[in-house]
Amino acid sequence: MRAAVLEAYGEPLSIESVDDPTLDPHGVVVEVEACGICRSDWHAWQGHGEWADDRVPIGQILGHEPAGRVVRTGDRVDSLEVGDRVAVPFNLGEGSCRYCRNGHGNVCTDGYALGFEPEVPGAFAERVHVPHADYNLTTLPDGVSATEAAALGCRYVTAFHGLAHRADVGAGDWVAVHGCGGLGLAAVQIAAALGGRVVAVDVRDEPLSMATDLGAEKTVRADRTDVPAVIEAATGGGAHVSVDALGRAETCRNSLGCLRPRGTHVQVGLTTDAERGEVSLPIDELTRWDVSFVGSRGMPPSRYDELLGLIDAGRLEPARLVTREVALADVSDRLAAMTSYDTRGIEVVTEL
Ligand SMILES: [Zn+2]
Ligand SMILES: [Zn+2]
Repeated sequence: MRAAVLEAYGEPLSIESVDDPTLDPHGVVVEVEACGICRSDWHAWQGHGEWADDRVPIGQILGHEPAGRVVRTGDRVDSLEVGDRVAVPFNLGEGSCRYCRNGHGNVCTDGYALGFEPEVPGAFAERVHVPHADYNLTTLPDGVSATEAAALGCRYVTAFHGLAHRADVGAGDWVAVHGCGGLGLAAVQIAAALGGRVVAVDVRDEPLSMATDLGAEKTVRADRTDVPAVIEAATGGGAHVSVDALGRAETCRNSLGCLRPRGTHVQVGLTTDAERGEVSLPIDELTRWDVSFVGSRGMPPSRYDELLGLIDAGRLEPARLVTREVALADVSDRLAAMTSYDTRGIEVVTEL
């Protein structure tokens, strides 16, 4: 089958003919119909992560945001059949540890990160193997297309989990979103759907106008102002919930700085090679004002039905974040465009 392989950090991915996936008894093979292109792919492609001993190895097939159709099932798979349309999470649980059994498969300590580890080759390929498929896969409602399901990727589900499950956004809460790339725009749309009043922050006008279309009530140009002060004034005392959707030291500190007392900061952006995983924070201030700092990555596979139900009902529209559909051979160009922040919304490979 055809696949896009990481042969050298920062160089175009190699489009190669590789062996078909090997089927585990508990796994399925999914024919990929669509796969999102994500800043996490960009981090992997850049060779980031060595500071956490988490660098993606050369030879990896990237791609972690697929949706498609089951074409082979392992002997021990009960709940899925050939032909089923499925959403594939990127953080896959093994299904039996205490975290998986308690509904927290996204933090399974024996889990897999699809497309980032040799054990789980990614989905910039015609077909992808999904281990422990009964636990990890959710079938798609008829009203949710493969492109929409791919747009959920890691970004949309991470934003949903962060806002709905980790920060518990309530009706009328002010929600600040720092950084309006694919992850930030997803957070804007989801926070508005949950009843939040959204302040979107970025240094570019175009993503801010997309944020307004997706439900942001106010926008802030971060390069022209003191972001925490402006948000405090605009919200009558600060945001209840604030999201760092970019992962730079400045966006992380602005996000914490714009909270009201007892507010919750949600960290969903991963840091760059400028921060190398470390950001200094005003700890005494966080303590003084009962501030919560929560991380969020992915979403437990067992909770996908909540999100898919909202999409099927038309209450959430991830398709509105999809700005471009491309072929497998175009992935390297789109990753290169991310270096200069020259992409917007979510781009999806639909020709594999
Ligand atoms: Zn587990
Ligand atoms: Zn992703």
